[in-house]
Amino acid sequence: MEDDVEKEEEMGDFFRSFADVPLTPPEKRNMCIRCKRPLSVCLCAHFPSTFLQISTTIHESRLLTTVPLLQACLSPDKLFVKRGRRFYKNDNPDLHKIITKPTTLLLYPGPTAENIKSLKQLPPGEHYDVIVLDGTWRQVKDIFNNNPFLCQARQVQLEHDSISEYIIRTQPNSKSLCTMEAIALSLSVLENDDEIAEVLIRPLRALCKIQLDHGAVVHFNKEHEDEILLRTEKRQALLKQRDMDGGVKE
Ligand SMILES: [Zn+2]
Repeated sequence: MEDDVEKEEEMGDFFRSFADVPLTPPEKRNMCIRCKRPLSVCLCAHFPSTFLQISTTIHESRLLTTVPLLQACLSPDKLFVKRGRRFYKNDNPDLHKIITKPTTLLLYPGPTAENIKSLKQLPPGEHYDVIVLDGTWRQVKDIFNNNPFLCQARQVQLEHDSISEYIIRTQPNSKSLCTMEAIALSLSVLENDDEIAEVLIRPLRALCKIQLDHGAVVHFNKEHEDEILLRTEKRQALLKQRDMDGGVKE
C-alpha cells in the first residue's frame, strides 16, 4: 500500500506532471518573467506582493515541488535550500553548527518529537531555525537515516486537524500534509499568525486548480471527501466575509 502511494507520489509530482500538460510550446515572449512559467499558467497573482515578514528561518532539503513556491513568498535570508541526500559537515558547516541549538527544530514526526504548538514564543531578536526534509515518504526516511547528525536536533511534529489541499497527489493518510502545507502551518504556529498559512497555501491551491483544469484527477482520501468540500465552502464564505469587512491582509 505504502509502495503504491509512493509510486503515485513520484509519478504525480506536480512539476514533472506539468510536462504532460498540453500547452503550446513555450516561447520566450509567452513566458512570465517573474515565475518563469508560461503566461497561461502564471502563478504570480497568487503570491504575496512582498516577502512574508517572519523571524523563523527554514532550512529545506532537496525540494522538487515546493522550492519555487516558497522562494516567491519567503526572502532568501529566511529560506535555505540544500540539495542532495547527505549533508556532510564540510559542505554544510552552517547546518552542523546550529544543529544542537535549542532553537533549532527538526520537523520530523516520531515518539520523541515535541508538539510544535507547545513551544514557547521567542523574545524579539531571537528566531527558530526549522529543518524540513522533503521528498516522498521513503526519501525523507532515507535522508533522516543517512544523516545521523540530524538526531541531535530537537525533533518537533505538527499536530493538526488540517486536511491536505494538495489533492492532485495522494497523501499516505488523512493526516498527511505535503511539505509546503507543513511549512505553512508550522510557520503560522511559530510566528503566531494564522494568515501566514493562508498566504503560503494559496499558490498551492492555484497549482491544483490549474492541474485539475488540465485534466488531472483528484486524489481524495475517500473518507474525508465530504469534509474537504465542507471546509472549502467554509473558507470561501470566510474570505467573502473578510472582503466585505474591508479587504484581506496580504
Ligand atoms: Zn508569473
